[in-house]
Amino acid sequence: MKRKRKKIMKKRTRNRLILLIGVILVLLLAFFMIRGIVTGISSLFTSDIQSVEGYEELQSGGLTDEEISEIVSLPNYHSERAARYAAWDVKDAKERVMQVNCDMDLEPYSNTIIQEDDTDVTMLINKFYALPEGYVPADLVSLDKYACVQGEDFSCQDVEQIELRKEVYDAYIEFCDAASKENINIRAIAGYRSYDYQAGLWNYNASVYGEAYADEYYARPGQSEHNSGLCVDITFNGYNYNEIENYDGYEWILNNAHKYGFILRYPKDKVDVTRYGYESWHFRYVGKEAAKVIYDNDWTLEEYHGSK
Ligand SMILES: [Zn+2]
Repeated sequence: MKRKRKKIMKKRTRNRLILLIGVILVLLLAFFMIRGIVTGISSLFTSDIQSVEGYEELQSGGLTDEEISEIVSLPNYHSERAARYAAWDVKDAKERVMQVNCDMDLEPYSNTIIQEDDTDVTMLINKFYALPEGYVPADLVSLDKYACVQGEDFSCQDVEQIELRKEVYDAYIEFCDAASKENINIRAIAGYRSYDYQAGLWNYNASVYGEAYADEYYARPGQSEHNSGLCVDITFNGYNYNEIENYDGYEWILNNAHKYGFILRYPKDKVDVTRYGYESWHFRYVGKEAAKVIYDNDWTLEEYHGSK
């Protein structure tokens, strides 16, 4: 009896030992499997980020892998601008990418890109984007109403020829019709200006006062929006165009222009983005769709393009 009991006990101990070894083996196996998966994933991740276009430029600019992965995952990241993103010292990834996309890291006129295609009415014309030499829009139309030349007392005098591109003309008439129903009588005081006119203006000032002076007060030829036929300087109800923001009615203009495809091109709080001083009178046509996006986001045209 005693012997039999002893035998059973022995068998039990052996079984427990086997079970224990089995459990340890399973645990070890699970541990190595999980570790393998984790290293696999992380190596996949590191090799992924390192193979992203622009990684080397971003890394040699002193950015960490974490910062780089945030930058390259943005929808408006452009790999060809990687070195510029790295050099632009703004902590927030979104701001860094947006600001570089808006050329805020560049010196004005240091990198001029010629806009060859004028079918896109949202095209940028600024200190980095220029119209081709001698550019004349093919579809200019003369404004037969809602235009005037201000006299010395800023009252409307004769209508001199003010021209806009056809699409802009149609939108402008629609805009003015709507405004007049609110007793806001908008008048254009400037529209299209020729390349040669701008060249004459800039060259004269540059030769007399120097390039720095000319650049401060005048756009270079091909780089004035007025050369595009896509913008209009306005006044309303006979006020001095320079002071329209102080009068009732201007608020309506600001809040409704986008419905007709126009944006205030050089807002007061965006001088660092547009690189132009505030101009309450200068409205740019970009089409209704883009104008709504710009208005809703409180963007400039630079930011509209920079978000892409
Ligand atoms: Zn203007």
